[in-house]
Amino acid sequence: MNMADLSQTQTNIRGELLHNEPMSRHVSWRAGGNVKRFFKPVDLDDLRAFLPTVPANEPIMFVGLGSNLLIRDGGFSGSVVLTTPLLGGIALDANDARIVVAGAGAASPHVAKFAAKNHLGGAEWLAGVPGTIGGALAMNAGCYGTETWEQLVDCKTVDRQGQLHTRTAADFDIGYRHVELRHGRINETEWFVSARMRFEQGDAAVAQARIKELLAKRMASQPLDKPNAGSTFRNPPGDYAARLIESCGLKGFAIGGAQVSTKHANFIINTGSATAADIEAMIEHMQKTVREQTGVELIREVRIVGEHA
Ligand SMILES: Cc1cc2nc3c(=O)[nH]c(=O)nc-3n(C[C@H](O)[C@H](O)[C@H](O)COP(=O)(O)OP(=O)(O)OC[C@H]3O[C@@H](n4cnc5c(N)ncnc54)[C@H](O)[C@@H]3O)c2cc1C
Repeated sequence: MNMADLSQTQTNIRGELLHNEPMSRHVSWRAGGNVKRFFKPVDLDDLRAFLPTVPANEPIMFVGLGSNLLIRDGGFSGSVVLTTPLLGGIALDANDARIVVAGAGAASPHVAKFAAKNHLGGAEWLAGVPGTIGGALAMNAGCYGTETWEQLVDCKTVDRQGQLHTRTAADFDIGYRHVELRHGRINETEWFVSARMRFEQGDAAVAQARIKELLAKRMASQPLDKPNAGSTFRNPPGDYAARLIESCGLKGFAIGGAQVSTKHANFIINTGSATAADIEAMIEHMQKTVREQTGVELIREVRIVGEHA
């Protein structure tokens, strides 16, 4: 598609299309570069109309709450679609009151609270994951022994042509913080627009108390008052990344505005002026130090995309 075609088609787009948008506004680290085009669809039809207008060779990335994402300081020369304004609906399935239907832009903590209120148990863990359901699907987010895809009934995806597909776990290779389409690539050929998750019949008061307890635990152990992106590295089998990092004396170590949290060694906080380069340099320094001192190769959990400045 040439530029004339592109601008012609875009006149049919109703959502806001921004150019050169700073992604520091949209990621929880509050750092990083700009994206070439940033689209805020107004509804699913608008999203489906927008996707085919993006030139075939230009990458498209869906972004939720940016709680696991860093865009390098040189920026990302593709299109970002922000899911939070449009895909945030949460409801009970019409045929099965144990199934919650959530848009990919719904905040996971809202899903946890909705499930609890509707007397469902087993969704409490989502209250502590400050991302969207789309991000949870893409990352196979999990904690306290439960992972997103274990509770998934099915999900809907959209492709570049704007076509919708219903997918189940059988369509994906799913692992620890890893999800990939068997025939295609998630985040390149298809993106999540909604999910149906099954929980157990439970008690609202019990579930709400459990959420409170889990959040208090997190408040006590995580540096939630500073911009961060949660756990930087996956836990290696049978061990904890935080334990290994702390054992290497890295707590409090800083590179520019990026610092290893003194509260939780697997968290990197932005002390105020961090660039994406500071954060990435810190990630590499932590990996190198842990490798040299313990022999363990830490695998990054946070996603980093874009160009170096
Ligand atoms: C304080 C804190 C605590 C955390 N605790 C946990 C935890 O306990 N367990 C855990 O697993 N994670 C945890 N995280 C990490 C993060 O919250 C999760 O990975 C979350 O699921 C990411 O959701 P998001 O909407 O923020 O995704 P983003 O950061 O916006 O995106 C993450 C990745 O998913 C892709 N993506 C997003 N939406 C879609 C979509 N609709 N379709 C296709 N791809 C998409 C993005 O392109 C990107 O590659 C924590 C983060 C923080 C800041």
